Amino acid sequence: MAYSSSLGYPRIGANREWKKALEAFWSGKIEESELHAQLQDIRLNHLSKQRDKGIDLIPVNDFSYYDHVLDTAAMFGMIPDRFEYNGGPVPVSVYFAMARGNKDATACEMTKWFNTNYHYIVPELGGITPVLTENKPLAAYREAKDKLGIEGKPVIVGPLTFLKLSKGYAASETDAWLDRLLPLYAQVLKELEQEGVNWVQVDEPILVTKLSDTDVSRLQKIYQTLKAAAPGVRIMLQTYFEAVERYQEVTQLPVDGIGLDLVHGGAGNRQSIRDFGFPQDKVLGAGVIDGRGIWKASLREKLDLLNEIAATVPSERLVIQSSCSLLHVPVTVQAETKLQPELLGALAFADEKLEEIVLLSKAVQSGASVISAELEKSEAAVTALKRSGERNRTDIQQAVAAVSAEPAQREAAFAKRLDVQQERWQLPILPTTTIGSFPQSAEVRKARQLWRKGEWNAEQYTNFIREQIDLWIQLQEEIGLDVLVHGEFERTDMVEFFGEKLAGFAFTQNGWVQSYGSRCVKPPIIFGDVAWEKPMTVKETAYAQSKTKLPVKGMLTGPITIMNWSFVRDDISREQIAYQLAYALRQEVEALESAGIGMIQVDEPAVREGLPLKEQDQKGYLEWAVKAFRLTTCTVQNSTQIHTHMCYCEFHDMIDSIIDMDADVISIETSRSHGELIQSFEENTYPLGIGLGVYDIHSPRVPDVEEMTRMIDRALRVLDPKLFWINPDCGLKTRGIGETVASLRNMVEATRLAREKYALQV
Ligand code: GLN
Ligand code: ZN
Repeated sequence: MAYSSSLGYPRIGANREWKKALEAFWSGKIEESELHAQLQDIRLNHLSKQRDKGIDLIPVNDFSYYDHVLDTAAMFGMIPDRFEYNGGPVPVSVYFAMARGNKDATACEMTKWFNTNYHYIVPELGGITPVLTENKPLAAYREAKDKLGIEGKPVIVGPLTFLKLSKGYAASETDAWLDRLLPLYAQVLKELEQEGVNWVQVDEPILVTKLSDTDVSRLQKIYQTLKAAAPGVRIMLQTYFEAVERYQEVTQLPVDGIGLDLVHGGAGNRQSIRDFGFPQDKVLGAGVIDGRGIWKASLREKLDLLNEIAATVPSERLVIQSSCSLLHVPVTVQAETKLQPELLGALAFADEKLEEIVLLSKAVQSGASVISAELEKSEAAVTALKRSGERNRTDIQQAVAAVSAEPAQREAAFAKRLDVQQERWQLPILPTTTIGSFPQSAEVRKARQLWRKGEWNAEQYTNFIREQIDLWIQLQEEIGLDVLVHGEFERTDMVEFFGEKLAGFAFTQNGWVQSYGSRCVKPPIIFGDVAWEKPMTVKETAYAQSKTKLPVKGMLTGPITIMNWSFVRDDISREQIAYQLAYALRQEVEALESAGIGMIQVDEPAVREGLPLKEQDQKGYLEWAVKAFRLTTCTVQNSTQIHTHMCYCEFHDMIDSIIDMDADVISIETSRSHGELIQSFEENTYPLGIGLGVYDIHSPRVPDVEEMTRMIDRALRVLDPKLFWINPDCGLKTRGIGETVASLRNMVEATRLAREKYALQV
């Protein structure tokens, strides 16, 4: 057999047609019928593309109008009351309101899909009675068959994964919910069976996370029920992103195939296959092509891997596939014309990965010789990049090895540094500051475009940026802030800005991936050894400092955030990449310090995003992540104050690592998790400088003084006023100028009142 299979194809379209169609509809530029027509074109195009590449098992129902978890919730009628849904197929207005909110109802929560940068809409179960509103996989299957003659493989989110990702119910109600949901899943499968569907892919990525005995029993019940309901449909139980837990029990479930990720968590899965074998009545979905990375595979290595597996699972029972859905990679390398040849030659996005899958399945069926030319080509491409100058900067490799062997420690301990810094800065108690960026108005964005297009020369652009800095230094002084920032007007994005200036990075023209809904990101590619070449931020920061007597904080993005928001090379470890970034950024920290900047903030909002899914790997990750931060910041003088900032995450379970970063001051976003965070400070004293955001910058609302006073009072119940800073909870770049100034004025007033109240305690 050795089928080739696709687990899911990017929705966004080669030219982001999908995004454009959605946004045109949302802004009222196209009618609903036009939206359906455009999305159908895109969907069918993706199906025929996969067929033309030679893929045997083509996924249907992987396409979505927003998100596949939201689709599943909508299919089961799980629509919270506030959206005023009245039964029947879910109208697009309701569907999009759940995703984006409308004037009457706030959107459902959105969160990260496992350890990827894709975000799904969190289903709210609450008091809802689930019903099957429409059999979506069936509709998708029929469409592919009627329009293109394709026998699609419907993809659905599995019951256990769906339940575990949902909220609004107590753990004790899990089984009751399962009992409500299972008949609906059974109904979906039964109808697929009646229609003559051969394979169904049931995605259960939750099986790579910790599973209790109860979960295993639930899985048995789920798959027994589904099998009994539709014995004629073959179920591929698909896992990904890590090694599957409870391998022996999972592979015994009454399904027809088990899909395993043989790239991420590949070592664990291979070990399980070796140790426990693989059932003879099942097909193995061998996820050998990396569905999340952007690199061309060494086909030879992949064939070796498949040969190793063939010792346990004969080729008649192998399906060759990617490690996960291709949703997480850009569409095609075809559009790239500007990358250097060694890099371009070594890239494989979704379309190219499908070709690799087809080649491997041919080789497994008919022997490696049938693809000998391609084997050589892939080897040559991988080798060329490996030999490129960018991957062989011995100067960098040696320096990083030396630096990372050092203890990465500030000269003095925090208490001593605090004294020295206090003497230097003479800050009042409860110092006020902001997180770095100020509003990127239309004017700022336009100026950058003019400059990028060459309509403005460097001098015009620099002058414009300086005017913005002048304006905001003046405003910050007038508002009465204690520690100022230059405003980050020269930056589009906190990762791209640095990537463009460091060696070892490349930028695609069209390498977009979906982040959430219609929002796409174009991550930089770290393909070579990372090197600092010249100061990146000194000019603007020093300029700002020259305009005021108050301290101006320098602003950098930290090594872990840069790494986690980029596509990275896979020939060295992430730890090594982090250290290279740390070494490069340390040189920027030193350059700022030499230019007289005495407070430097190294932002690490994405530290938690890189946390491995397996508990046993988390400690190791946090250790080297913290070390990378310390390497970046440890060489400055005691009087130089290192700040950091984190957001979008739950910190309570990593507070020890945060303390370990040894930043003089941290600012943390708290608006969305205030209670939990405060609680964690009740349990652990935080011994360094800390600012808990006293207002939420994600809303245009101007918070009043009393509201911020309450936030300050609450925080000071558990934190030391001597160490407490007052700031908004994130950068202000997305806010309007008027609301920003008004909010900051209120913040300074709340601080004045708090100082009166707490001065005696210091
Ligand atoms: N310094 C950055 C800013 O203010 C921090 C952004 C972030 O936390 N994501 O924009
Ligand atoms: Zn932030």
